[in-house]
Amino acid sequence: CGIVAAVSSRNIVPILVQGLQRLEYRGYDSCGVAVYADGLKRARSTSRVSELQEQVSAEHIQGGTGIAHTRWATHGAPAVHNAHPHFSHGTGAGSAARPGKVALVHNGIIENHDDLRAMLQAKGYVFESQTDTEVIVHLMDSLYDGDLFEALKATVAQLHGAYAIAAFCKDEPHRVVGARAGSPLILGVGVLADNVETFLASDAMALAGVTDQIVYLEEGDMVDLQLGKYWIFDRHQQRAEREVKTVHAHS
Ligand code: GLU
Repeated sequence: CGIVAAVSSRNIVPILVQGLQRLEYRGYDSCGVAVYADGLKRARSTSRVSELQEQVSAEHIQGGTGIAHTRWATHGAPAVHNAHPHFSHGTGAGSAARPGKVALVHNGIIENHDDLRAMLQAKGYVFESQTDTEVIVHLMDSLYDGDLFEALKATVAQLHGAYAIAAFCKDEPHRVVGARAGSPLILGVGVLADNVETFLASDAMALAGVTDQIVYLEEGDMVDLQLGKYWIFDRHQQRAEREVKTVHAHS
């Protein structure tokens, strides 16, 4: 339903949570946030975003790279274990307990989730949710070879359906990658003192008060966000220059 993501050199959690709050009007049944903090850390809730906020401050969840989501369930009941962000984990015995590598949020529906789940289970991936989304995070993990953007490219090539995706990986902490096909996704560029911050969101409204410098991504675009820099690739995987617009989003 709603996505907010960021790469920054400051703690980005307050902005991610505030972004979710700005998307609350769209409706949701659960919400969550994940950051890089010496590994993957997350908080998820089937209550309001304000409850998620209390959870992140009680658990001191902080980091400069993160993704956040409000979920409107399509596959799998509204429940904490089905809430996004989803994490991948190693394959093999006891894998469910192994620390996660890739963290991901998704809007939309993956039509071929049954086939992908069966293929990934055969490889030893253990599923922790009933969502269609969880196949994406394990697929990315299975295709990851040191470059998260390459893993995302190889992943979306196997997805049928509608998606806006944002993901990061504990092995490349200052990077968030994203893709859009059938669900909206925008990129935001903010300047804080001398630091350039990069954002993704399902709606420019999520970044109101944070940045008004917005790139509306096009159908089939993929994005690679790093500290202070970003790259956009079009549906033909060609480097694309997109206009940065000044957008006055009102809440
Ligand atoms: N299909 C996904 C799920 O049920 C995403 C739903 C959404 O867009 O919020 O978890």
